[in-house]
Amino acid sequence: IKVYFAVFTDTKSRPEGFIVVLHDVTEEQKLDNMRREFVANVSHELRTPITSIKSYSETLLDGAVDDRETTEHFLNVINTEADRMTRLVKDLLQLSRLDNQQVSWNMGEVPIKDLVRDIVDRMRLQAEHKHQKLESYVIGVIPNIKGDKDRLEQVFVNLISNALKYTPENGEITVYIGRIYNDVYVKVADNGIGIPADSLPRVFERFYRVDKARSRDMGGTGLGLSIAKEIIQAHGGTISISSEEKKGTEITVRLAV
Ligand code: ADP
Repeated sequence: IKVYFAVFTDTKSRPEGFIVVLHDVTEEQKLDNMRREFVANVSHELRTPITSIKSYSETLLDGAVDDRETTEHFLNVINTEADRMTRLVKDLLQLSRLDNQQVSWNMGEVPIKDLVRDIVDRMRLQAEHKHQKLESYVIGVIPNIKGDKDRLEQVFVNLISNALKYTPENGEITVYIGRIYNDVYVKVADNGIGIPADSLPRVFERFYRVDKARSRDMGGTGLGLSIAKEIIQAHGGTISISSEEKKGTEITVRLAV
């Protein structure tokens, strides 16, 4: 709380009265802190790949380039890190467009059942690489919804790829498509590593990751769920998560018919 204090005096400089203004700056401060934290996060996330690109390319220039095997290995690292930066910048641009309401939504009829089933079929190969079972189940009759098909596709791809990433080999990922009252829901359930209870409320925050190193190894930017939430909210829908450590995670998206 900021306190402003002023004393009024008469013509002979004798105090006549005073004014006290109490200004609650908690919200402002919170926003300011969030902004600061965001900039610090962005800087850190960008510096990490730059540092490795710089050191690997310097080592190559210093002579490592004479060894073919080392060169190939180092160039692979440089390439991976450049890809990471590209993803990060792409996600940041999209978030900033969502924040500034600069996204032009391409709204139309979306056959959500077919959309989700097609995504699942396309991602099955990826699941099979990890010997994971990826299935979709449709419960009841699912009407089309109104939305931006590409953006919704992006959300479901993101949720399913998280489920694949954070579920060990031989795990199971099940996607349910159903209807409750006037909503269509899509639930992505996995029996993977789960999320500790104290982290659960934070996973939709920008850059929040339960395990930074693990997310990094998986190529994550830590922005996927925050983007998904913005997109679903822009559709007037909701996204919710429940999880138990070492048991699995369920993410449910609800969209109005
Ligand atoms: P990332 O790029 O790190 O995957 P996200 O925003 O998509 O970022 O997710 C934020 C964090 O939430 C992840 O780093 C991970 O810790 C956790 N998370 C998301 N989905 C799952 C899941 N299906 N199982 C376990 N943890 C998850």
